[in-house]
Amino acid sequence: MRTEFSKYVVLIFMFLFLLLNACANEEISVSREYDFAIAIHGGAGTLKRESMSSETEAEYRAKLLEALQEGYHVLENGGSSLDAVVAAIKIMENSPLFNAGKGAVFTHNGLNELDASIMDGKTLKAGAVGAIRNVKNPIGLARLVMEKTWHVLLIGEGARLFAEEQGVELVSDEYFFTKRRWDSLQNSLEKESEKDRSEISIESNSYLGTVGAVALDKNRNLAAGTSTGGMTNKLYGRVGDSPLIGAGTYANNKTCAVSATGQGEYFIRGMIAHDISAMMEYSGKGLEESSHEVIMNKLTAMGGTGGVIAIDSEGNISMPFNTSGMYRAYHQSGEEPVVKIFKD
Ligand code: ASP
Repeated sequence: MRTEFSKYVVLIFMFLFLLLNACANEEISVSREYDFAIAIHGGAGTLKRESMSSETEAEYRAKLLEALQEGYHVLENGGSSLDAVVAAIKIMENSPLFNAGKGAVFTHNGLNELDASIMDGKTLKAGAVGAIRNVKNPIGLARLVMEKTWHVLLIGEGARLFAEEQGVELVSDEYFFTKRRWDSLQNSLEKESEKDRSEISIESNSYLGTVGAVALDKNRNLAAGTSTGGMTNKLYGRVGDSPLIGAGTYANNKTCAVSATGQGEYFIRGMIAHDISAMMEYSGKGLEESSHEVIMNKLTAMGGTGGVIAIDSEGNISMPFNTSGMYRAYHQSGEEPVVKIFKD
């Protein structure tokens, strides 16, 4: 009887020993996760080292780093991933370098129509605006749609009225005028009489310049946001993938947060951002494998070009693109920030 009893005691001790060991190992893997992290992009396209001056390259790198650090500091100070995404995107929207906010491209009839969206990975709530004019920071308005209405997407004149009601900063048409974007519209319009419109669209949009951010905060919540002026010479009223949840933006704490850039029509038809999340959710594949599969295989096979930035709930980051370059940067807690443009 006594030996039976001591056998059980030994077994219980062994079980406790194994349990403690498993917990200790778990702790090791937990400590390998990043506390918080952020990644941003400033658009993908034909970006070649040999055709970019060192001054231009330095200018882009500095602005990307500024936006990245703005978001990183929000996270470092305990702010939410949504706050970090908005902070980083606003810096890029306020710069003429990117095709979002201030630097937005022109539509066929010489207007600037902006698209943006944001998604909260914790609640799966999302907000977006499409084809809006005169709003300085569309990402901020997208967030207000998410937080102050029960809708996901507001467009055009209605979105503008909502912006007025919410007291967001409105700017004149002239605010969005940049010579570079105007010249590229004129260039595209000149060629239009000679060639097919879709061919022109591809030529005029070899580098796009949409901006986006994805982040993981200290509470392990994911968020994603994207903002754009769309594509040069797009038809008035055209809405791209950037404000469409699942196409250009997606976030789910169970899987990942994604922001896309590229020819929006392909991203819409391929449901690119959600596809990456779905692959992780249903097949159990990791972030890197899922995002590469969707961009390098699926998008490429469809004939689409562009890329994504994606982050998972451990702060791992993946940034696949099938163009020659993508303005991109990331910063994981405790590591150095990284800024990249070309395929290197
Ligand atoms: N995806 C954007 C659009 O089609 C363009 C871009 O990524 O630069 O509107």
